[in-house]
Amino acid sequence: MLTRCISTGTTVWSTIRRALAIVALWVVPAVAAERIEALEPHMGTMFRIVLYADDPGRAHEAIRAAFDRVATLDSELSDYISDSELNRICVDAVGRDVAVSDDLFTVLSASQALAVRSDGAFDVTQGPVIRLWRAARQSHQLPGAEEIAAALKLTGYGKLHLGAHTVRLDMTGMRLDLGAIAKGYAADEGLRVLRERGFPQALVAASGDLAFGEAPPGKAGWDIGVEPVHAAGEGFAKVLQLHNAAASTSGDTEQFAEIDGVRYSHIVNPKTGTGLTMRVGVTVIAGKGIDSDGLSTAASVICGQSGVAAALVLIEKAGARGIVVVEEGGQWKKYESPVR
Ligand code: ADP
Ligand code: MG
Repeated sequence: MLTRCISTGTTVWSTIRRALAIVALWVVPAVAAERIEALEPHMGTMFRIVLYADDPGRAHEAIRAAFDRVATLDSELSDYISDSELNRICVDAVGRDVAVSDDLFTVLSASQALAVRSDGAFDVTQGPVIRLWRAARQSHQLPGAEEIAAALKLTGYGKLHLGAHTVRLDMTGMRLDLGAIAKGYAADEGLRVLRERGFPQALVAASGDLAFGEAPPGKAGWDIGVEPVHAAGEGFAKVLQLHNAAASTSGDTEQFAEIDGVRYSHIVNPKTGTGLTMRVGVTVIAGKGIDSDGLSTAASVICGQSGVAAALVLIEKAGARGIVVVEEGGQWKKYESPVR
């Protein structure tokens, strides 16, 4: 009896204590999360991190770690850094299987899968052709037909073989270029680091490739303006609210060569070895940046090869959403995947 009384008394007291604790939680004002923003140059562009935190000191450490992760990825995936892992395998992996880092394997696996799904419109073995058009942007001279033919002989995603964490290339002189997919993956990875360090309400933007975590405090998502710059002022501006998603835009607004009155994009058509001349801008919204980045470039190529409808099919089959702005008969038109 005594035991029961004591035990009942304890239960009542702990219930009161719990009730007080709950009341305390209600009355103690929540510490307002501060918006913190940081910029740093990586991968030939400006990376931007925005996050909400109630501990700015720890937030700055997390931002440092996220940028460091992006720098590591650059040293693995860049075709500009001469001793990057990517450039080293272009020499070491000719005719033999070479073990590669998890990052390189992840990005090459996603690239090869997209190459198959896009029937070669997306092709990371286009390095030799891409280099010709990079030089054309500097010299304002078109590459010669023989030069393009010689470069094309060194390309083709079927000449790149992935094994169990290994890479093999068929020919000397092949060059891999991850410019259409690495930034999206880097945005994903930057966001992952921020989440792991306790900052899920964050975004990582690598110019046109953005990865979004949880929504900012009190909001349903991050507002992003999808203004097809091609058709700026044409009334196509659109604001989306995204969280736990990624968005990428590809187009010829920033990098192109204008030669003899024709505008050649930095995106090449692997079937012809030429820069795209069709004026098109593609935004893709997907779960991950590695997918939105690759798909937006692949869809740009397909718009030129087979038309907008085929490009949207590729995007939607991948479970993503596309917004395509294209010049048709001197007029800008917008095509969009249905919102599900
Ligand atoms: P941005 O680099 O402006 O974000 P993209 O994501 O579309 O734009 O990537 C363009 C880059 O992709 C080019 O600069 C080149 O390095 C590479 N690239 C060009 N054409 C192709 C292609 N058909 N398949 C894969 N990568 C490509
Ligand atoms: Mg891309």
